[in-house]
Amino acid sequence: MNYFSLNNNAPKSTFKNAVIKGLAPDKGLYYPENIRPLDPSFIANLSQYSNKEIAYKAIEQFVGNEIDTETLKQIVNDTLNFDFPLVKMGDSNDFSLELFHGPTMAFKDVGARFMARCLGYFNKEEENLDIRVLVATSGDTGGAVASGFLGVEGVKVIILYPKGKVSDIQEKQLTTLGQNIQALEVKGVFDDCQDMVKMAFLDNELQHKGLTSANSINVARWLPQMWYYFFAYKQLQQKELPLYVSVPSGNFGNICAGMVARELGLPIHHFVAATNSNDTIPRFLQSGLYEPENSKATISNAMDVGNPSNFVRIRKMMNNDIHKLKTIFSSYSFSDKETKLGMKELYKKFGYISDPHGAVAYLGLRKEVENNTDYNGIFLETAHPVKFLDIVKETLKIKVEIPVQIAAIMDGTKSTSEIKDYKELKSFILNS
Ligand SMILES: *Cc1c(COP(=O)(O)O)cnc(C)c1O
Repeated sequence: MNYFSLNNNAPKSTFKNAVIKGLAPDKGLYYPENIRPLDPSFIANLSQYSNKEIAYKAIEQFVGNEIDTETLKQIVNDTLNFDFPLVKMGDSNDFSLELFHGPTMAFKDVGARFMARCLGYFNKEEENLDIRVLVATSGDTGGAVASGFLGVEGVKVIILYPKGKVSDIQEKQLTTLGQNIQALEVKGVFDDCQDMVKMAFLDNELQHKGLTSANSINVARWLPQMWYYFFAYKQLQQKELPLYVSVPSGNFGNICAGMVARELGLPIHHFVAATNSNDTIPRFLQSGLYEPENSKATISNAMDVGNPSNFVRIRKMMNNDIHKLKTIFSSYSFSDKETKLGMKELYKKFGYISDPHGAVAYLGLRKEVENNTDYNGIFLETAHPVKFLDIVKETLKIKVEIPVQIAAIMDGTKSTSEIKDYKELKSFILNS
């Protein structure tokens, strides 16, 4: 499969090159040259296939012949060694799609594991690619990337995170693994981390260091997320009802992958991009003006993004036509106060404990369907509540059991370096 740059000023790219480079030379995001719908009978009979079979079928065309069939199947199987349960909320039409059963209990595990395995394969093929994955995280990306890439040969991982602005558990996940994983603590907010990462990619003096990104701008991180939507649809009983999917959105990679699933033929009636008070996209849909802002800190910190990088892909998919976009896509913003009310409502009505991100998605779904009764509604629960322990305990006044994966990591020793500006990052990379 070929990819082109959304800045339209770079040569076409193979999948392999797009994964290794992350961004196109003109700094645009890569986008697949065409998206070929799957056989409708495959989708009609989805329930008969295993998740691994479905995932292979969905991703195959985006990789093409650049990874042989057997290896790609193996990569998919290794990536998907956990479940994606769809949990019905009481006797309502609403379901939680739980994406947090992976090794770091964040939905980003899937993309990170898939990308790491693809890079590991390309490294074997070519030997000594000597790649540096540079990633800015507002919380969950870093942990999933660290875990997904741990021990992958030929790849060093450098993670930038805002000092004091990620939860204890998230910080442990970033800073305790060692080996090929290095965490850098930045005095500042997430946008400062992201800006530094962007500067590094633009820096000619770092060209020889094989930098790539493991944020959802990388096609191998972004595209596998479309699988969730197939796995959800597969588990629905009454498939004939119109399906609404609400996605807690920060960089808009997950929802954009869901829209790719729809392009492949999955019958999703409507998407809701639910955001916290970082409301650039809800404002864009209202005014037609794209006016990014600096990110604001919220209790759903993995979505504290003021300028969502994947939105250009969404616009491209909809031919840059906002009216067309609005027929299948809404976006609403919720404050921290509303988010806590959403968590309380889920707990009171259904006994369901959600993390703040899942609660934002639930609120988005409720707002879209309102009093509608003939529908299926799915909200994506992207993190295990234990990862936001303090907020969950304080909001719901309950105890939360710590799962074994997390308990183990809490004993690890934090190892990190502190950097305050781009100069320090650059010298760190040059010496790595
Ligand atoms: C990253 C993340 C999101 C936002 O996903 P995007 O693809 O950036 O929109 C939502 N919830 C959690 C828990 C996350 O880690």
